[in-house]
Amino acid sequence: MSDRGSKFIRVKCQDCENEQVVFDHPSTVVKCIVCGRTLLLPSGGRGILKTQVVEVLE
Ligand SMILES: [Zn+2]
Repeated sequence: MSDRGSKFIRVKCQDCENEQVVFDHPSTVVKCIVCGRTLLLPSGGRGILKTQVVEVLE
């Protein structure tokens, strides 16, 4: 991996409380797999969080 600062994070959807693990440097919009709410926006680097982070995975 060229991007050494990247990692996976567990986020919680604020609408339906679904938790899912996502890459924190997304290249596309990350949406809740249950309700479709936007969770993370791509920014060319670290994604812009639109919901709550539950856990950062190493
Ligand atoms: Zn949801």
